[in-house]
Amino acid sequence: MAVTRADALALDAKDPLAAFRERFVIEDEHRLYLDGNSLGRLPKGTRERLHRVIDEWGSELVGGWHDWIDAPTRTGDALAEVIGADPGTVLVADSVTVNLFKLVNAILETQPHLRKLATDQDNFPTDRYVLEGIARARGLELEIFDVDPLLGPQPSDVPEDALTVLSHVAYRSGALADMAAFPDTVIWDLSHSAGALPVDLRAIRYAVGCTYKYLNAGPGATGFLYARDPDALVTPIQGWFGQARQFEMERPYEPAPGITRFLAGTPPILVLAAVEEGARITAEAGIEAIREKSIAQTELLIALHDQWLQALGFTLGTPREPHLRGSHVSLRHEEAWPICKALIERADVIPDFRGPDSVRLGIAPLYTRFVDVYDALERLRDLVERGVHREIDVAVSRVT
Ligand SMILES: *Cc1c(COP(=O)(O)O)cnc(C)c1O
Repeated sequence: MAVTRADALALDAKDPLAAFRERFVIEDEHRLYLDGNSLGRLPKGTRERLHRVIDEWGSELVGGWHDWIDAPTRTGDALAEVIGADPGTVLVADSVTVNLFKLVNAILETQPHLRKLATDQDNFPTDRYVLEGIARARGLELEIFDVDPLLGPQPSDVPEDALTVLSHVAYRSGALADMAAFPDTVIWDLSHSAGALPVDLRAIRYAVGCTYKYLNAGPGATGFLYARDPDALVTPIQGWFGQARQFEMERPYEPAPGITRFLAGTPPILVLAAVEEGARITAEAGIEAIREKSIAQTELLIALHDQWLQALGFTLGTPREPHLRGSHVSLRHEEAWPICKALIERADVIPDFRGPDSVRLGIAPLYTRFVDVYDALERLRDLVERGVHREIDVAVSRVT
């Protein structure tokens, strides 16, 4: 039976998370934002909190550090709650890229039996670039293995004597890996899963991830680094914030106990406040409820793809089984790039383009409605049916 707009509205009417949408800044109700997996929306609570922290700076000046100094680990503990980690094992600092650099080097330094590096061909570019650079600097081999994008990496792909970096949810296809089934020589990149689905970090040893996607911490917000046993590692960036007894300044370098040793320089206090708010609103909604809604919404999206888009030359670039995918869906089409541009310029739908041929649509259950999914797919169908994407300027822009 065909899916109708009334079906989507009925799903919204019984959605237990529906009220969370009002907690976000949404200035334009006509615009359908399906890119929360690239940059999440601004929570109203974060806007207020940031104003308060700015005022703290204004009134307390350097005295503010008495409270700010613990922000990276305090925020890490707030985040630990939504990514299934123990307190003291998550640090919020730096970008994902820099955290990966630190973690890979720290593991290689302390586990010399790992004699090469590995990742899959489909992994996110920054992960590959970091590994290429470290392999060159250390004279190590980097093995890049092929995977079926719809399956994602499998445990048997992981080379035995390698330190391997994999994404929990593949950034293009959305394939979801069963982390617990993999060897513990894997560093997991949780950029597309943290805040979108339950993760059990207690089952793995190492991870990095992003806070500006599903955790709504804002453009350029710091990432996180997780190590189950941080005291077994030594960071390659020996900075004064990772030093034991930081303010006894004449001492030689000695790593701080615990995850704090992965701090390098002075932490960005405004950003950390935004990460804490993002983690809080996620914890309040409950990650299980978020996942349940996300699955229902990606199911709706896929049903509408089958109903309307298949006939227009689209194929599904994401696993059909809900438990094998994350919270975004890629629709593949030969003309994906002009279609993405037309969606933004002519239909007020915000997706992103992921080469070579994917229109990627992200579901952020805290503020995406079922009817948004319906309307976005309807606008997409109309646009392609009428050939609107053939009328637009297809010059490639710097950000896609
Ligand atoms: C978004 C994303 C990143 C971001 O890295 P930054 O260094 O924070 O810019 C890293 N890895 C993956 C898989 C991502 O999706």
